[in-house]
Amino acid sequence: MAMAGGGHVVISGGGPTGVVAALACAQRGFRVTLLESAREIDDNPRAATTHPSTLEYIDRLGFADEFIAKGLVCRYFQFWDRDTQTRVAQFDHEILRDETKFTFAVQTEQHKLVQMLLPKIAAFPGCTAELGAEVVGAVQDAGKVTVTVRRGGELSDIDCDWLVAADGGRSTIRKLLDIPFEGFTFPERFTVLTTVHDFERSLGCCYRNYLAGSEEWAMIFKVAGDDMKGRWRAVMPTRESESDEQALADDSVIGRMLGLDRSCTLDDVVHRKIYNVHQRIAAKFRVGRIYLAGDASHLNNPIGGLGLNCGIHDAMELVDTLEAARAGAGEDRLDRYERRRRTLNAEFIQEQTINNKKRLEEKDPAARQRRLDELRATEADPAKQKAFLMRSSLIASVRRAATID
Ligand SMILES: Cc1cc2nc3c(=O)[nH]c(=O)nc-3n(C[C@H](O)[C@H](O)[C@H](O)COP(=O)(O)OP(=O)(O)OC[C@H]3O[C@@H](n4cnc5c(N)ncnc54)[C@H](O)[C@@H]3O)c2cc1C
Repeated sequence: MAMAGGGHVVISGGGPTGVVAALACAQRGFRVTLLESAREIDDNPRAATTHPSTLEYIDRLGFADEFIAKGLVCRYFQFWDRDTQTRVAQFDHEILRDETKFTFAVQTEQHKLVQMLLPKIAAFPGCTAELGAEVVGAVQDAGKVTVTVRRGGELSDIDCDWLVAADGGRSTIRKLLDIPFEGFTFPERFTVLTTVHDFERSLGCCYRNYLAGSEEWAMIFKVAGDDMKGRWRAVMPTRESESDEQALADDSVIGRMLGLDRSCTLDDVVHRKIYNVHQRIAAKFRVGRIYLAGDASHLNNPIGGLGLNCGIHDAMELVDTLEAARAGAGEDRLDRYERRRRTLNAEFIQEQTINNKKRLEEKDPAARQRRLDELRATEADPAKQKAFLMRSSLIASVRRAATID
């Protein structure tokens, strides 16, 4: 249980970043108040892919076995040419065996991570994890932060030593602090269709597949589902000609599914959802005693499955930073959080996800061929394949962090 280290941390937002930050802080002896505005855990299909570097952090926090047991172990991921329905390249995490004990990614849906951690956080003495509690205000002076919380119609204040804004892309706290969220929003949105159609049996897909197409790209992933019976998620861009309502209507949905595999049926589709997609980084990750983490500080497209992973990496850097703050570290040490996390987000997450999207959506025939050939060549050369996986799994990002002081 918690060591008595002292210090009170309020965390706004009980998404994946908030719960991991909360557990890490509780384990280091902070008193933690986790406030989540939603009354229920959001189980819409968002992140699932958890990379080796993140599994290492999860292992350090002591729940890797439980996390892996709720998901699917994915040793491989594949790139496909959607035009010809043929596999272009397969990448094998086993090539990382000298770098990590996790030679696979794990597909565990993000709401399961939240469900898993809320009771663990609340089990620490002095720590609470509350749903239906919205942070609506925060002011700070040299000695404390005062956080205003709304529960139903009631407002109340909580004083704390540090506030973590893990309140997602629309972060109330980032807006209250007037921090610019620099970057752009893609004109197209992403449609996520969840189906029980088995793409492994019908097309020979593995659990993580990226499909480059001259007409349209797609991603196909398998997740375990709450019943552990298996579901597949197909992600595609919305079409310019369609409103969101049209994109989610039966005729469009079955058209999209048949475009992936002629044996798909509408009855197999169990969920439909559309997301806006952005590439943005907050201009500042820290203002005095307030720290931004996860989607509150950065957003990226989901191709490559990096956003949540980056949020968990933020949380782990943040807990070290708060420990330093508790020990009386100076401004320069505390600003290292921003120096590291902002730089790494730009160098690894933004760079890779923008490139991942370009790779899949390339329409020019010659450039498309070049990109597919590059993937084949990367698979064929073990050194290149390893370097590719070191980046995609964010192991390279963790190592780069250690070089930024
Ligand atoms: C389709 C899709 C697929 C994705 N796949 C992957 C993937 O495979 N791998 C990956 O790494 N990432 C993926 N991502 C990205 C990932 O979902 C996000 O990066 C992740 O959810 C960020 O977690 P977070 O906790 O920072 O923010 P959020 O998940 O947005 O959580 C923020 C929480 O704060 C709460 N909140 C908001 N305002 C307040 C307030 N004022 N007071 C209190 N609480 C508040 C919200 O209710 C929410 O629960 C995907 C995203 C999408 C859309």
